[in-house]
Amino acid sequence: MPHHILVIEDEPTLSRLLSYNLTQEGYTVDTAETGGDGLLAASGRKYDLIVLDIMLPGMSGFEVLTKLRQQGDRTPIIILTARNAESDIVQGLKLGADDYMTKPFGVAELLARVSAVLRRSRPDEADPDPDEGQEKIIAVGDLKIYPEKYEVVLAGESIGLRPKEFEVLLYLVQRPGMVVTRDDLMNVVWGFDYVGGQRTVDVHVSSLRKKLEMNQQSVRIDSIRGVGYKLVIAKK
Ligand code: CA
Repeated sequence: MPHHILVIEDEPTLSRLLSYNLTQEGYTVDTAETGGDGLLAASGRKYDLIVLDIMLPGMSGFEVLTKLRQQGDRTPIIILTARNAESDIVQGLKLGADDYMTKPFGVAELLARVSAVLRRSRPDEADPDPDEGQEKIIAVGDLKIYPEKYEVVLAGESIGLRPKEFEVLLYLVQRPGMVVTRDDLMNVVWGFDYVGGQRTVDVHVSSLRKKLEMNQQSVRIDSIRGVGYKLVIAKK
C-alpha cells in the first residue's frame, strides 16, 4: 500500500509541483487549497502524512494543526513556513508539527524529509517487504547512487558531490535519455521561487559533469541548447 499524503497549500503552482513529485515518488496524494478543506479531508480519512502550509486564506495552518491535535489525530505533519519566520517554526513545533520546511525550498529536500518523517513515525511496524529495510540504491550503467547517504559511486569509485550537485544528478538519473529543462531542475533542487537564476543551474551541472568525466566516460550529461540537460549512458 503506497503511503497516502495530504498536501494543504493554497499556492497552485507549488501545490501542483509537490503533488507531481510526491506522486512520482510513489505516494498517493490528495490536495486541499484552504485550511477548512484540509481539515475536512484530514478528519475524513487516515493519512500517513500531511504537508501543511501555514499561510492559508481563512483558517491558518496553525488552526488546522491545533484542531487536528485536539481531535487526537497524531498524523505526522510537515509545516511550510515563510522565510525568516522563526517564531512560526517554534509555534508550529509547539503545536505538534513533526518537521518544517522554510520557503523557498527544493522539492528534493522536501521528499527527503517526507521519507524521513514517515520512517520515524513507523519505527515498530513489522516490515512486510524484506527489501524495504535495506538501503535504496539506484544503479544506472556504472553509476550507483545511495539517496539516503547522498553518496555516488562511479565504476567502483566514490565521487564527492556537493548536496545540490547530488540532487541534480539524482533527478537526471531518474529520467535517463529524457531532456530535463533548467526550470525543472530549478524547481526541484532550488525551490520554485528561488531567485538565483538559471546560471546557478548551469554552474552546478558544469561542475557535476567534470566530476563524472574525471572518473569514467560511461555516463555523461549533454546540454540541449536553449532547453536544458539530458543524462546519457554510453553503450559498452
Ligand atoms: Ca500560502
